Amino acid sequence: MENIQMLIDGEWVGSEQEQWIDVLNPATGELITQIVRGNEKHADRAVEAARKALKSKEWKSYKPFQRGQFLQETARYIRENAQRLAELESTDIGKPSAQAKGDIEAAARYFEFYAGLADKVFGDSIPIEEDLLNVTVIEPIGVTLHIVPWNYPIQITARSVAAAIATGNVVIVKSSEDTPLTTNFLAKWFHEKLPQGVFQHLTGYGAEIGSALTSHTGVNQITFTGSVPTGIAVMKSAANNVVPVTLELGGKSPNVVFKDADLERAVPVIVNSIVQNAGQTCSAGSRLLVEETIADELLEKLVEKFKTLKVGPPANNADVGPIINEKQYKRILEILGSVDDQAKILVGGEAVQVEGYENGFYISPTIIEASDHDNSFVQEEIFGPVLSVVRFSDVEEAIELANATEYGLVAGVWSKDIDVAHYVASRIDSGQVFVNSYGAAGGVQMPFGGYKKSGIGREKSHLAVQNYIQIKNIAIQVQL
Ligand code: NAD
Repeated sequence: MENIQMLIDGEWVGSEQEQWIDVLNPATGELITQIVRGNEKHADRAVEAARKALKSKEWKSYKPFQRGQFLQETARYIRENAQRLAELESTDIGKPSAQAKGDIEAAARYFEFYAGLADKVFGDSIPIEEDLLNVTVIEPIGVTLHIVPWNYPIQITARSVAAAIATGNVVIVKSSEDTPLTTNFLAKWFHEKLPQGVFQHLTGYGAEIGSALTSHTGVNQITFTGSVPTGIAVMKSAANNVVPVTLELGGKSPNVVFKDADLERAVPVIVNSIVQNAGQTCSAGSRLLVEETIADELLEKLVEKFKTLKVGPPANNADVGPIINEKQYKRILEILGSVDDQAKILVGGEAVQVEGYENGFYISPTIIEASDHDNSFVQEEIFGPVLSVVRFSDVEEAIELANATEYGLVAGVWSKDIDVAHYVASRIDSGQVFVNSYGAAGGVQMPFGGYKKSGIGREKSHLAVQNYIQIKNIAIQVQL
């Protein structure tokens, strides 16, 4: 595959003079392509171009409904190229083809959803006194920076970029050093269709071009998805420039299963919630809290199911793909290797060698039962196909444990009793709670974001446009 160039100020940047970073296929360990190792100078140039584009007549003259039409066209373009995009996403992340196809459709849905909203974001008129016309006017916030991780690149790029463009902003995307392919594909489309500098794509290491961008005084807003420590660093940079951030930082999300739950219905959903994308999902159902009286029965069913899951590359039509890179792979194996007598591995727990793919990074789907909820397996985000289990004895303990981590992104509550289900759902500190289900294939229309260290602000849904607007109050005193 040809090397990937950055899109800055309407030009493709990536000459032989640049430094380059290898991008590997995690399913095979083979080189896919190289990206430019972007630096501070690239960041400066991109922000300058973005500021110019923001003020340009060309971009300002796009009416809101025209931005909507463009976003609709983008959704159509994504669907027309769904097969190719799914292949790129699978190659970059190693995720099974069906999951990659789901990601592409979700990306199209984001563009479609915010297309519909583009001309429906408006202000108020506020009655104050006679002959004073007081109105609020909605303006774009300006230069928006989108820092994207490697686990769902096209979905995460789409959800914030679509909302930002719908509201008339300009956009800089810094894709993850591991997964630039689908953003590069979209960059070519934006390059062709949008005025120069409205959409720019930068690549490179987070600590280099990433931090040059987050600390840049020309950036007006930052949307970041990734780890808690990096999120904190991004927020500190933003604080220096008094710039708002939207942070989506992961979790240790529980499925809470009560004794009257329909286990036949719950089991496949719980399994999917942790093995999807090899557990490398911010909203993964990585914690299982189960009522003591049904714990053995549920765990037996889950272990059975885990044993049937096929681990391997997309080419083998596997259920569970590889871990994204060697660093994450080693990190997860080290965590699994540290199990002591406070926890027990019920299934999995080891590296998997896949014939013909010996350089890929495969780990078997794992269930660990811990005797104590304070155990690090239960508290820390592992970001692999590892389900941590703890038993509880009653409703109050279930709520206490569900809330006993530093995260609060998503939760599942499983019970046929509507009183129990609603009582628990309303007491869990979490941005989303699903009852008798978990996840919603992208959940484009549902507000998504974290309590506690899972983040700040909400993405997806109609609410996300709030991240990308300024409100100006104009008061007109009338006198004849
Ligand atoms: P990370 O947070 O370091 O990286 C995410 C993105 O931020 C990447 O594009 C990276 O280049 C950029 N970045 C890194 N340092 C930066 C900085 N100082 N300034 C600006 N941008 C910077 O995540 P990672 O190292 O790829 O993964 C580590 C852990 O993060 C995972 O184990 C997982 O726990 C968590 N994670 C969470 C999500 C999520 O969806 N919430 C996604 C990926 C990773």
